[in-house]
Amino acid sequence: MRELTWIVDPATGDVVVEGLTTEDLSALAGDLLPASRDLNCARPLTTVPLPIASQAHGPVLRVASLYHGSVVDGPGRRSVCQLQHCTHACIGCYVPQTHSPDGGVLLGVDDVVAALLDTAGEPRDGVSITGGEPFLQPTGLLALLQRLKMHGLHIVVYTGYTLEALARRPEPEIAEALHLTDILVDGPFVARLADDAGEWRGSRNQRIVSDVRRVVDVLTTPHFT
Ligand code: SF4
Repeated sequence: MRELTWIVDPATGDVVVEGLTTEDLSALAGDLLPASRDLNCARPLTTVPLPIASQAHGPVLRVASLYHGSVVDGPGRRSVCQLQHCTHACIGCYVPQTHSPDGGVLLGVDDVVAALLDTAGEPRDGVSITGGEPFLQPTGLLALLQRLKMHGLHIVVYTGYTLEALARRPEPEIAEALHLTDILVDGPFVARLADDAGEWRGSRNQRIVSDVRRVVDVLTTPHFT
């Protein structure tokens, strides 16, 4: 039997139902879902305007979109930074507009942080970094995570790489970014494994790693085989 995931937004009372087909929606419409409306479809229906492309010095990120109040990108209500550029080419990807390295807007990391912190008073439980592929911009990603951690924020990062693959990468920025990540959702999207993926994941192969620092330390221990 196929499972549906029901997520209640405690701030608004909105209910997000993941895994619904058009047929499910027709069957539920009426008493159970008396006034349903689209809230998202693996991506938000509304995003905040991106800051003006920055001339600022310092680390930069190519950003596809920013949005607040997501209940599908990690625990609780989250502000989300969706980064531009991805080379994984997962079949059935919901966000092909994030693939090009030239899309989105190149922004100073400080401007990205300011936009993420500006929730107009809406409650927030943390920030999620999605893509695209965040680890294709390791320098800017690390700078972003460092600044968010200075504000004490809980951080979720999505990646199409496995954690093992990231742990083998030589760039020190990647290891540092992983150490600042509270939850990593890893692995490519696999369309045939999308059913019953549950909260936060696109497909069942993806893992929700909540002890990222410990796992990275184990993977990078010289005698680990
Ligand atoms: S990693 Fe994410 S953004 Fe990249 S192709 Fe796969 S599903 Fe799409």
